[in-house]
Amino acid sequence: MEDADIQVATEKLKQLQEQFRVEVLADWGAASDGSWQSGKWLLAELDRLDQTIKLLAGVMGGSDKFIQNIMGVTIKKADIGSHGGEALSHRVSLSTKGTFSAWTVVHELAHTWDANHGWQLAVALEKYTGGYTSRAASFLRKLVGPRDSGFWNQENKPGRHGRLPGCNAAGYFYGDKPSGSNWAFNRVEDFAESIAMYVGWKNNNDLSAWAEARINRYLLENGTPDTNFGVDNWADYKKHFYPEAGDYTKTKRWQFVDDLVKGKIKV
Ligand SMILES: [Zn+2]
Repeated sequence: MEDADIQVATEKLKQLQEQFRVEVLADWGAASDGSWQSGKWLLAELDRLDQTIKLLAGVMGGSDKFIQNIMGVTIKKADIGSHGGEALSHRVSLSTKGTFSAWTVVHELAHTWDANHGWQLAVALEKYTGGYTSRAASFLRKLVGPRDSGFWNQENKPGRHGRLPGCNAAGYFYGDKPSGSNWAFNRVEDFAESIAMYVGWKNNNDLSAWAEARINRYLLENGTPDTNFGVDNWADYKKHFYPEAGDYTKTKRWQFVDDLVKGKIKV
């Protein structure tokens, strides 16, 4: 944050607090010796954060709904290793390594929404989509197959990232068709990604191109490099992830989130 931006930034912070009960931890300002500390935040990032929060609140049904769902969140920039973001109830950290996307903001806020409900939104999604979590069944699956990973971890090559149901660290057997899966996939990640997919899908916003790309990669031939997602045996995974006629609104996840934001699902 530059010295010259301080007024706009201060106003934005105040408005986020008042309208959404979102507190951004400012890491900029005058040091004790009077020199300016610019911190890690850029004004353009505050704008992106603000816009994305408005977008998510709109999907939820307005700022009152947003406050009711999340009940206050503090957002800060922090060194969190290789992750883009991390979330707990009432707390989101965005990586100081590079900037963040609107997708990451929605994903992390979805985690805080879920956390604020004792992670039961993820449980509800798992149930709604016909999935389950079982380490025992996962162990068996990895033993007798088919499996698309190593036994104890994924392997860094096409067709070995652990995208099949149950072939992940959590023993998560997803139901229906998520937009993707990997070794780190579990119902909590599923919930966050499902929210981001719902917000972006065909809505012509900052998440829409990514949502589209997540689905379209399964139309590629095996071994084709995708601009965003690297190389994989995409065609082999089409039956697990590509929705009917390429229409994500036909998935149980889209329907779940639609029901959730319309108040038809209570947790
Ligand atoms: Zn996540």
